[in-house]
Amino acid sequence: MHTLSPDLKKITLDIWENAIFRAARLQVEVLRLDKIHPDISGNKWFKLKYYFEKAVEENRKKLISFGGPYSNHLLALASAAHSYGFSSVGMVRGEEPERWSHTLLAAKELGMEIRFLPRMEYKRLKHGTPATVLNQINEGGLLIPEGGAGAEGIRGAEDIFEQIPPIKFSHICCAAGTGTTVAGLVNRAQPDQKIIGVSVLKGTKNDEPLDTASIKNPAGKRMLEMIHGEHFGGYAKYSKTLTEFMNRTFCESGIPTDMVYTGKLFFAVARMAAFGLLNKTLTRSGG
Ligand SMILES: *Cc1c(COP(=O)(O)O)cnc(C)c1O
Repeated sequence: MHTLSPDLKKITLDIWENAIFRAARLQVEVLRLDKIHPDISGNKWFKLKYYFEKAVEENRKKLISFGGPYSNHLLALASAAHSYGFSSVGMVRGEEPERWSHTLLAAKELGMEIRFLPRMEYKRLKHGTPATVLNQINEGGLLIPEGGAGAEGIRGAEDIFEQIPPIKFSHICCAAGTGTTVAGLVNRAQPDQKIIGVSVLKGTKNDEPLDTASIKNPAGKRMLEMIHGEHFGGYAKYSKTLTEFMNRTFCESGIPTDMVYTGKLFFAVARMAAFGLLNKTLTRSGG
C-alpha cells in the first residue's frame, strides 16, 4: 500500500452560513485544510514540512516525535514519513493500554515505531533532557517537538497564508493546542487583521498556550486575541451541547468538525458572532 503525499490543490474555501451570521451580517468562510490527505489533516502537514526539509538537509533518515495516544500529529508524521521514505518513532505519553487507539494503530500500520513512556518519563524527555541522552534515544534521528511546536513548525504554519485566496479577511480564527499554528498566522497576517485563537485546553490564560516570544510580527501582540472559555472541560472533552452544535453545523454547511479542535473553534465563532464581537460592519472571517 502506498500513501500519497498531501495534495494542496484539494484545499477549498467553503461558505458557512447560518441565522446568527445573517443577523450579524457576517460572511464566514472555512479554509478546508482537512481535505489535503486522509491521515495528514489540517495544519499538521504545514507544521511538519520544514522538519522534513531539515531532515533531508542534515541527511537524517529517522523522525521522532511526541504525543498522546490520540495524537493527530503523530499520525500525520507517520503518514508523511511513510510517503517520503523516512522511518519514524512516536513517543507516546502513558503506559501501553490494553487496547490501542485507532490513531496509534493507523500510525503503526504506516510503519511508525511506537514507544510508550510513563508520564513522568515523558515529561522529563519533553522538557530539558540532556542532549547526550536524547541523542542516544535518537540514534541520529531528527527530534520534532510535540505538536511540531518549534521554529520550523511556526514557519510552516506561516505558509498557510499562501492557501488563503487574496481576500482581506478582517478576522482569522483558529483552534490552539500548542499555539504553533496561531503563532504562524500572527507572523504572516497584516497589521489590520485580527487573529483569534481558541484554546482547547483547560486553565489557559492570557496568550497561553502560545509562547509569544516566538511571534516575530512587531504588531503581533496587538493583532492576537486568545479565547479561553470554550474548551468544554479540557482537551478532547465534550458535551451534548457541543455534539449537537457540530451536527447542526454539518447539516447547515456540510462541513464536518471534530470534537478536539474545530468543533470548539466553530462554537466559539458562532458565540462571538451572536454577541456582536466580530464587527458590526460587513466582515469576513475564515479559519
Ligand atoms: C492540531 C490542530 C490544531 C492545534 O494546532 P496547534 O498548532 O498545536 O495549536 C488546531 N486545529 C486543528 C484543526 C488541528 O488539527
